[in-house]
Amino acid sequence: MALRLYNTLSGTIEEFKPSTDNTVRFYACGPTVYDYGHIGNFRTFIAVDLLRRFLRQSGYRLMHVMNITDVDDKIIRNASQRGVSIFDYTKKFTQAFLDDTHTLSIQVPEKIVRATDHIPEMAHLIEELAKKEIAYKTEDGSWYYRIAKFPQYGKLSKKDFDGMNDGARVDVDEYEKDNARDFALWKAPKEGEHSWDTAIGPGRPGWHIECSAMSMKYLGETFDLHAGGEDLVFPHHENEIAQSEGVTDKTFARSWMHVRFLLVEGQKMSKSLGNFYTLRDLVLMGHKPSSLRFLLSSVPYRKQLNFTFDGLTQAATSVERLRNFKRRLETTSWPEGVNAEIAALAEKAKAEMRSGMEDDLNTAQMLGAIFDLVRDSNALADKGGVHQDDVRPLLEALQQFDEIFDVLTDNDSPKIKAIVDWAKAEGLEEKIAPATMEMAKAASLSDEQIEALVQKNTEARKAKDFKTADAIRGELLEQGIILENTKDGVRWKRK
Ligand SMILES: [Zn+2]
Repeated sequence: MALRLYNTLSGTIEEFKPSTDNTVRFYACGPTVYDYGHIGNFRTFIAVDLLRRFLRQSGYRLMHVMNITDVDDKIIRNASQRGVSIFDYTKKFTQAFLDDTHTLSIQVPEKIVRATDHIPEMAHLIEELAKKEIAYKTEDGSWYYRIAKFPQYGKLSKKDFDGMNDGARVDVDEYEKDNARDFALWKAPKEGEHSWDTAIGPGRPGWHIECSAMSMKYLGETFDLHAGGEDLVFPHHENEIAQSEGVTDKTFARSWMHVRFLLVEGQKMSKSLGNFYTLRDLVLMGHKPSSLRFLLSSVPYRKQLNFTFDGLTQAATSVERLRNFKRRLETTSWPEGVNAEIAALAEKAKAEMRSGMEDDLNTAQMLGAIFDLVRDSNALADKGGVHQDDVRPLLEALQQFDEIFDVLTDNDSPKIKAIVDWAKAEGLEEKIAPATMEMAKAASLSDEQIEALVQKNTEARKAKDFKTADAIRGELLEQGIILENTKDGVRWKRK
């Protein structure tokens, strides 16, 4: 079997594999760095992360390019309101975005490229379009794309633009869904706006030309896959196709992957409804990054995901269950021997996880398989049905799961602490929940320091020095570390 992915361009599920060699060349639209990323943005970035992890698990090499849009209408507006340059303005939010992806264990693409580092490439593309009379210049020095010259316009978004008004223009980066008009490739300089001097004159690029220029520069004129949120299908991706194929007369991206929007408590997320959350908001409210990653990964990317706080709490419980199972496997003194039933259960789980992911990245099936395995194995363990040689196949199944989900390693505390430190630096102390402070504390001790204290606690208990033992336990609890007594000794975990 092979990976089957839904391709927005063909409107069908297709077998997906790279066209030339073992490397998948793909481009995913990155953030526009005008603010902190919200959970809707991160659903998309996590979906792309799940794809890249599954491709790697399937043995492919990756050339994944992601852009940072550091010049557009919103950035120019916000920077000028604050009286800073777009460069100063975007620097902070670019770093914040990169920090947030780290917090959510999103792998770093092979190449991250900034729009403002590629202005000459964009101007060159517009020149090429002008040679073919697809781009034209207006009196003020702006450049537009003449969509009447590209009859396939609408093929991605499946829109029929017959009868459109040839020559009608739109100069904003984002516009209404039924608005088929010549769109801006290049905008003439305006008072107070940063502009660049280029071969096609002074000015600054439109949003769409960026992605055409940068994707083709690093991936070639035709590449395997282009991804983004569903809101990008039109106009952004439709325009990217028109620009790129207008120049090359070749297929731009062979396959297109679009990630569905999420709802928050059943409603569209918006600032006016008060249900708009950034990753940082949720962490300050007392939620772990791993809970959010788990929740955002749990619903297959083409299905509507309804984000709820109940769901987030359940996600935390689910992650905890998986971590506890792994800890149990690793710290219990299992009796010698093997139980053939366990190997069969582990194989079944592995096959189901794989076939789920091959089915258009069905993460829900993957979760079902791993939790069945955890439940059945725990039940067998409780009856003495797990032996030393059963541990390895179970850990292998967990690893196969975690290569995609990446929630088993307990690394939440230092990430939470970094956000707490940021909030303090930004004067947002009042937004930090007590639970968040507690969890951040657990980052102050390293695993080795904790192990040493746990050892001391065990020794004190053996020597019946319960006063010392209790003092150590209290000290650890104060630092957000919980001790659990088991028949195989003391286990610890972070809150
Ligand atoms: Zn883009």
